[in-house]
Amino acid sequence: MASNKPELEERENDSEFKESIAISTAPELELPHILTKGSIENKPEPKGIMKVAEKGRKVLITLKEKLSGFKRVVEEKWLQFGYGRNLERTRAYQVWPGKNVFFFRGRLICGPDPRGLLLTTVSIIISTSIFAFYTREDLPDHSGLIITFSMILTVIVLVNLILVSGIDPGIIPRNDQSSSEEVGTSNGTRKKRVTVNGVELKLKYCRICKVFRPPRSCHCAVCDNCVEKFDHHCPWVGQCIGLRNYRFYLTCIFSALVFFVYIFAFSCWRIHQRILQSGVGLFGIVRICPETLALASFGFAAIGFLGGLASFHVYLIAINQTAYENFRQRYAASRNPYDKGILSNIKEILLVPLPPSRVDFRAEVTPRWYPKAAGET
Ligand SMILES: [Zn+2]
Ligand SMILES: [Zn+2]
Repeated sequence: MASNKPELEERENDSEFKESIAISTAPELELPHILTKGSIENKPEPKGIMKVAEKGRKVLITLKEKLSGFKRVVEEKWLQFGYGRNLERTRAYQVWPGKNVFFFRGRLICGPDPRGLLLTTVSIIISTSIFAFYTREDLPDHSGLIITFSMILTVIVLVNLILVSGIDPGIIPRNDQSSSEEVGTSNGTRKKRVTVNGVELKLKYCRICKVFRPPRSCHCAVCDNCVEKFDHHCPWVGQCIGLRNYRFYLTCIFSALVFFVYIFAFSCWRIHQRILQSGVGLFGIVRICPETLALASFGFAAIGFLGGLASFHVYLIAINQTAYENFRQRYAASRNPYDKGILSNIKEILLVPLPPSRVDFRAEVTPRWYPKAAGET
């Protein structure tokens, strides 16, 4: 009995070992059993060789899957390192190829250079502050009402400024296809023509976005995006002006014009009052109330700039042209197919509901080189 016990334990251990092998061994590792000398010798028929080949193919497929899984892990780690975020939560704005700067997790889409916007905002806030603190001293009755109205104008200008610079101006999404020749090129050429109201227009192909631009669109070199109904890139708001924010741009210009006319008028009135009270000349005002003189001067310059801009855009609305089309003299040789008369043009530009953004910048995305596994949601 004593001599049989070790043998039994050995057999039991051996069976456990075999069982553990059976559980832990992946199907592809069954290949050594098939490739054993005995099995090959015992089954020399072509059917057996085919079976071996089939098993070999399965092993190769499994190896390929394991390699792609390894590649996937490496890419995930690389993206986590590059963006500092979990790949599962990567959103479109985080991997957006354009040069835009995003705020509030992709809710505000600004141009790449915010300095112009900052300068414009600070100019308006300083102007209204000087007006509120200094000019009110000499204001007649209802000074509170006059200051309140200037504050309301300031808020209107700033809200429109945020809308112009923070909403999608009409960015056209890029094409993910790597080969540009595959995109809309049935005959291998990169030319397309469309007819709009009886006028034939040529569609240009954007090599960067890999799309045929819709009519009136252009690729903004500053933002690095194609923008629908591109008007211009405004350095004062740091954003493209296009189909979706042109209306707010106009409101911003006109409200800022009214604001500066208002500030200028009361500043001039205060300077006039001070001249009458002190008896000094216009040059003496520099010493008495320099802040109001500076405000009036700045207001005068702003009125000249904004007035010219507003007049130009009123003209453009009347003839239904964008600033870019006008600058490039797009319709010098042919009729403007979008010009439907002044009233219809105004209605189209100002009253027609805005189309939704073509890009959901907050959508969760998976990089195109990162294929979804079967059954993954
Ligand atoms: Zn483009
Ligand atoms: Zn731009």
